Amino acid sequence: MAERIEFQDLKTTNGPQMDQLVAAAERVLRSGRYINGPEVKAFENELAAETGSKYCVAVSNGLDALRLILKAYIVKGILKEGDEVIIPANTFIATFLAATSCGLKPVPADIDESTFCLDFDKLPLTDSTRALIAVHLYGLPCYNKKAYDALKARGVVVIEDNAQALGASVEGKNTGSLADAAAISFYPAKNIGACGDAGAVLTDNEDLARTVRMLANYGASEKYYHILPGCNCRMDEIQAALLRVKLPLIRKIIEDRNRRAALYDAMITSEAVIKPWLPPSDTVHAWHQYVIRHPWRDDLRKYLEIHGIGTEIHYPVPCHLQECYRAEAWDPLPAAERSAKEILSLPIADVTDKEIERTATLINEFKE
Ligand SMILES: *Cc1c(COP(=O)(O)O)cnc(C)c1O
Repeated sequence: MAERIEFQDLKTTNGPQMDQLVAAAERVLRSGRYINGPEVKAFENELAAETGSKYCVAVSNGLDALRLILKAYIVKGILKEGDEVIIPANTFIATFLAATSCGLKPVPADIDESTFCLDFDKLPLTDSTRALIAVHLYGLPCYNKKAYDALKARGVVVIEDNAQALGASVEGKNTGSLADAAAISFYPAKNIGACGDAGAVLTDNEDLARTVRMLANYGASEKYYHILPGCNCRMDEIQAALLRVKLPLIRKIIEDRNRRAALYDAMITSEAVIKPWLPPSDTVHAWHQYVIRHPWRDDLRKYLEIHGIGTEIHYPVPCHLQECYRAEAWDPLPAAERSAKEILSLPIADVTDKEIERTATLINEFKE
């Protein structure tokens, strides 16, 4: 039988850089400097240059990056407890947790079923809407200039959840630099992944960046002088050193993922499958996930598993229907709820052309 195709195996993902990663970790270990040192500083500069943002603050993970942005806006008096934050329902739970952990009220929004991103024509705007988190889900920029401008005119803060779309762009502008501030995650399975947890905040707003940095470092301006009731949400030197090995690969990773997505698109011919929407030429997709829809999704997933192909579901339950938020009386969100039952993520991180061919052929041959 043919060899199993893993959904993603991080040993494979990190394999080609293993010697450099070991050398980077060793450099930090031997330096004796593990927190707030030169690796983090250098990584912040490199990431800001890559994304075209003026300021970058390296932090502990993607959830904390989102939380720190929201908290900084609260400290600045731009947001306050109880304010409504519009968030697409079909995101990773972290986007919702960031809002609720800051005392903000997440208002789940429905999605455009062709893009899986926010439906800008159906935003649940109210007089209490003060912020919106645009999630670039699966690596596709969630961007609409008219909608962003209209939100800005209403005084709504727009934050990008750029956890899945580092390296994507629209109209020549990188995700992470499209709105007021952006959160990035370097969770190991992300397009650029750390070997542990890590994240970053990007913004062109100097004051916001300074507040985020202070909050993440015990609210201190200098050691032992605490201005804000902050937290410890720093990226450590080892993760920064490892990420400095991987960040230069971003263009190649995006290129490879685009090629794989195009190959899936060409090879999958089954009429029962809805393939992902392909963006116009002014948009670069990061293809963090390649997500198809199928009416018999669970059967298809079992069938692929039997044939040795690992798949995932991102995400099986929309956030507003998760147990932790179920007590709230949410309006139904038909597009998000319907798609959650039919979506299936195919392997894209490290698969070869042959493996894509094998997967596509099996999908084409699948009969419910
Ligand atoms: C991964 C992810 C996060 C959270 O990042 P962590 O580093 O795991 O905390 C937030 N939002 C989205 C959309 C993500 O995919």
